Amino acid sequence: RQEQFRALRDVDPVTRDGKRISLLMNAGLLVDLPQLAESGADGIGLFRTELQFMIASQMPKLEEQEAFYRNVLRQSAGHPVTFRTLDIGGDKVVSYFRAQEEENPALGWRAIRLSLDRPGLLRTQLRALLRASAGAELKMMLPMVTEVSEIRAVRDLMQKEVQHLSKFGHSLPRKLQFGAMLEVPALMWQLDELMTEVDFVSVGSNDLFQFSMAADRGNARVSDRFDILGKPFLRILRDIVRAADRNKTPLTLCGEMAGKPLSAMALLAIGFRSVSMTPTSIGPVKAMLLGLDVDLLAEQLNQVLDDHRSNTSIRELLVSFAASH
Ligand code: PEP
Ligand code: MG
Repeated sequence: RQEQFRALRDVDPVTRDGKRISLLMNAGLLVDLPQLAESGADGIGLFRTELQFMIASQMPKLEEQEAFYRNVLRQSAGHPVTFRTLDIGGDKVVSYFRAQEEENPALGWRAIRLSLDRPGLLRTQLRALLRASAGAELKMMLPMVTEVSEIRAVRDLMQKEVQHLSKFGHSLPRKLQFGAMLEVPALMWQLDELMTEVDFVSVGSNDLFQFSMAADRGNARVSDRFDILGKPFLRILRDIVRAADRNKTPLTLCGEMAGKPLSAMALLAIGFRSVSMTPTSIGPVKAMLLGLDVDLLAEQLNQVLDDHRSNTSIRELLVSFAASH
């Protein structure tokens, strides 16, 4: 099967009913980058910048961050890369960054919350990203956004960094794309504000599922208790797609579910046209979508999602659809 997937590398990811799907990969270190060419991914949909911080013994300096991002962009050879700003805290521990012990680290002082409270740290990262992307496109997104105002706050800091760099004669990115991750359920009731505020949205389904179900993603006893392909979560995802369509905001999903052919099938049927996953999943997901009639599956899936009395298992529906098509 590995051979079979390799043979698909240069095949365009177009579904049987003609929909072009953007297949992106997740990365976080330079060792991941050769996978871009090997997998045939369209680009990097999630670059986890905290990895550089997690493997270092002390805080990487501005120059080190800049060199690292420059390297990532060079090795990506023109493929788009979406950098996520630091997602420290929760399950991502940085030893030299001593946060206080927290009773609920997943709900604690992490990601953009920490970045906003340590503007020096955030501004250094923004500066490094801007400098590394001089003359090119910079795509960046913020993790764990809870309120749209947090995005505005980072945008203000970004504007200061842009002014600072141009004042000192640095060249700037040719284009700046500013996005947010949708991982916190509170954003579900700010969808239109969110979609008009940013250039793109990326659903972090690992965290969005954990927070929606109030089930710790690191605790198998509860994380496997609820089905990610159950009605509640698929309805959440469908609402996100509808808001993105309504606002014409580019949308991606970059959690683990994107890399599983069965759940990727559901995502396409719900309306996602861009997904980002571990590189080894690109082949299997592409093999799935080449044979998929998205509209046909969408019809069946939406029927179950809209029927409040139906207790049809969506997982079983997907399995039997896959078997019979
Ligand atoms: C997610 O939460 O789905 C996500 C992609 O981010 P991470 O797994 O790094 O938290
Ligand atoms: Mg996350």
